[in-house]
Amino acid sequence: MKLDIKSQRQCIYCHNFCKFSCSPYLSEKDQKILQTQKNYLIYLHNNKKLKLDAELGRSVYLCNDCKRCEYYCIYDGKDVLPNNRYSKELIFKNGFAPDEVYKIEENLKKYKNAFGLDTKKKKINKSYHHDDNEYDIYIYSGDYVKHLEPQVFDSFVKILDMLDISYVYDEDEISDGILALDLGMADLSKNLMEENFCKINKYKFKKMVVLSPECCYGFKVEYEKFGYKFKNNVVHYTEFINDYINNIKVSKTNDRIKYLDPCKLGRFLGIFEEPRNILTKLFGAKDFEFFKNKEESNCCGGYISLYDRDFSNNISMDIIRECKESGCNVLITACPLCLNNLKRAGSDCRIKIYDLLEYIDMHLER
Ligand code: SF4
Ligand code: SF4
Repeated sequence: MKLDIKSQRQCIYCHNFCKFSCSPYLSEKDQKILQTQKNYLIYLHNNKKLKLDAELGRSVYLCNDCKRCEYYCIYDGKDVLPNNRYSKELIFKNGFAPDEVYKIEENLKKYKNAFGLDTKKKKINKSYHHDDNEYDIYIYSGDYVKHLEPQVFDSFVKILDMLDISYVYDEDEISDGILALDLGMADLSKNLMEENFCKINKYKFKKMVVLSPECCYGFKVEYEKFGYKFKNNVVHYTEFINDYINNIKVSKTNDRIKYLDPCKLGRFLGIFEEPRNILTKLFGAKDFEFFKNKEESNCCGGYISLYDRDFSNNISMDIIRECKESGCNVLITACPLCLNNLKRAGSDCRIKIYDLLEYIDMHLER
């Protein structure tokens, strides 16, 4: 990764907005997580004034690229991703990333998914045979749906069947490479992107619908940067379902809902209105906003849970706490990683936590 000098200079070291917008910092009080300090560390290292070690490595990996500090930063147009990735790559290549991150690399190389599941153990095991026909949509589930929350995929397929939409799904789907990119494995990420791009382009379809915001962001934004531009439209499932909202009939519910914006759907892709429209029009939901919502919304800990589960749990607990205080009984999100993190953090409370697709499926009038 290249160091983004412009982004480094877009900082007056005010500290305040960085500090108070960063959930990992608030949980750990470790300044090395913050953008300011990251810039300083990169500067020191590149001027041979800093020795890297595992402690510094842990701090750098406790930033989960949620972009919340970017939203609060006084500089418009600041992009924290290049330097986050630059610092992680520096740590990774020098062998100071958390051990679990090297395990993820091994899994991505060997099994082409972050979890090390071989194809015989895959959880989405229904056969979706395809032929030479053109399908309405190509479904890309992503690692977190495929290996952590496969019921989200089943719910989507049920909704598609009800809408009479034809779809194709590659049972041997591989990781999109965005996690690898975020964790400092740029070369591996490029290989995965290339392989994925070739695999997906073998199918004939009108639109690609992606179930995981991280992958959707990857296909919409990052792939293009590497020269892989899909000829078909790529949408997140909330955009897709929103277009069919008048064709979906659901039963009434008295649930008191809260909706959590996933970072990669909201701050990264600007998809705020579609999930809200679905909740309002289908379920008549009101008062579902968190105190901090949309661009300001809290992060669930993101991919930190893949290598530091306890730390990520602490971050998710803030969201669960607000839910409890608000008296809601259902928490909905639109990201399988948020879902997985929140379910773990909320396992001992009465609040039920669902992906929006599951929630629609549960209430479908068949
Ligand atoms: S909020 Fe912006 S200007 Fe302030 S310390 Fe953070 S990156 Fe620098
Ligand atoms: S991107 Fe998120 S986790 Fe990283 S420093 Fe900014 S607020 Fe903290």
